[in-house]
Amino acid sequence: MSGRDRTCAGILAHISSYLDGELAATECDAIERHCRGCESCAAVVAGLRHTVGLCREAGTAPLPEVVRARARESVRKLLADKRSSTG
Ligand SMILES: [Zn+2]
Repeated sequence: MSGRDRTCAGILAHISSYLDGELAATECDAIERHCRGCESCAAVVAGLRHTVGLCREAGTAPLPEVVRARARESVRKLLADKRSSTG
């Protein structure tokens, strides 16, 4: 457990928080930094970008609840998958 980098599960949890509108801009940066070195998270964020305009573009307008719900669901599945595969 190191404090200098975030785990994939931590990043996905942050993405989920973002979808709830609870994520600060600095956390968006942390997500983007992590994704530069992590293909699996980058793929998740890329997919969500198409759906909800993750971070930068989405800051200006509230997301429709149906869009957030759909994106949250996919993040939740990924988290569950990581938990079951890594223990
Ligand atoms: Zn990752």
